[in-house]
Amino acid sequence: MTKVRYENDIQTEVLAGKKIAVVGYGSQGHAHALNLKESGYDVVVGLRPGKSQEKAEDDGFNVFSVAEAVSQADVVMVLLPDEHQPAVYEESIKPNLQAGNAIAFAHGFNIHFSQIVPPENVDVFLVAPKGPGHLVRRTYEGGAGVPALFGVYQDVTGNATELALAYAQGIGAARAGVLETSFQEETETDLFGEQAVLCGGLTGLIKAGFETLTEAGYQPEVAYFECLHEMKLIVDLIYEGGLENMRYSISDTAQWGDFASGPRIVDEGTKARMKEVLADVQSGEFAKGWILENQANRPMFNAINAKENNHPIEKVGRELRDLMPFVKQPLQAKQSKQK
Ligand code: NAD
Ligand code: MG
Ligand code: MG
Ligand code: MG
Ligand code: MG
Ligand code: MG
Repeated sequence: MTKVRYENDIQTEVLAGKKIAVVGYGSQGHAHALNLKESGYDVVVGLRPGKSQEKAEDDGFNVFSVAEAVSQADVVMVLLPDEHQPAVYEESIKPNLQAGNAIAFAHGFNIHFSQIVPPENVDVFLVAPKGPGHLVRRTYEGGAGVPALFGVYQDVTGNATELALAYAQGIGAARAGVLETSFQEETETDLFGEQAVLCGGLTGLIKAGFETLTEAGYQPEVAYFECLHEMKLIVDLIYEGGLENMRYSISDTAQWGDFASGPRIVDEGTKARMKEVLADVQSGEFAKGWILENQANRPMFNAINAKENNHPIEKVGRELRDLMPFVKQPLQAKQSKQK
């Protein structure tokens, strides 16, 4: 089995006394910056002026321009949206990196697909939490953590691996487990996972179930509870104890339905199409499409997003969630504070 590292396996001296610039203060940025600070590290935040700046200052950080933050830092963690990273890197990060500094990422996309080509005299590493930034923060506050992958792309100081591990520990990931990867493996598995399973697959499954029920004349409210609301409750059981734990908790009728009908929904054809999605990720075809979509100012992204937000499941969901204020906490409360 792959070695999973925990807090006792990690030496943190290599990061002690170093200045860390967290560039970006969104989902991951606020979590990394706050967790590192509370783990005792010297953290500055690099941002352009705007909403995130106010939030970072409210949270007690010294906020600088990206260029100023990078200039004073030993370790630069880039937590900007992936599609903005190359431009900000060229303009504000690259000119301010010094030999022996480290530049780090939470996703391998830009390095792996050559959108950022770092200089040869800096360490380059990856610490990629396997969870949303708001949970990286929330679990840390609760004494736990979100597991993370780490990887080294370039090691000029000889310390890049220790640095990555100490950083992972600083954000609380070593409480949950830290696993070694490469930029290639992290990038390809992350893109595949979000496209086929976590985001694309899941939203497709929820919408298809909701549409099937409402088109058959059932009430949208009933279909919402069945296909969307209950998803979280089922997934919580899977998260806590695997598929077996979920199947233990559901009725045997539900379990028999899982065995009898599940394979009719997700079948060999689904898996064959997953392999096509993976092939597009591996070949760079997906990356090329996303890079060009951004260069064109996102015509398709915006059109599809507007249509998706108007889906009947979203309309009925907004009404139902207003009647269940408890489901909105605490993540959305925090997000609205952030916005
Ligand atoms: P985000 O969109 O939540 O936040 C981006 C931040 O960058 C904001 O503070 C924004 O104000 C700032 N920003 C945007 N453009 C800027 C510019 N031109 N100059 C300066 N600041 C700018 O981003 P995110 O979802 O936290 O993603 C950051 C990185 O983390 C990405 O590489 C992503 O793949 C990775 N990641 C994200 C998650 C997640 O939970 N969202 C999980 C794992 C890895
Ligand atoms: Mg986002
Ligand atoms: Mg991911
Ligand atoms: Mg991702
Ligand atoms: Mg049911
Ligand atoms: Mg059972």
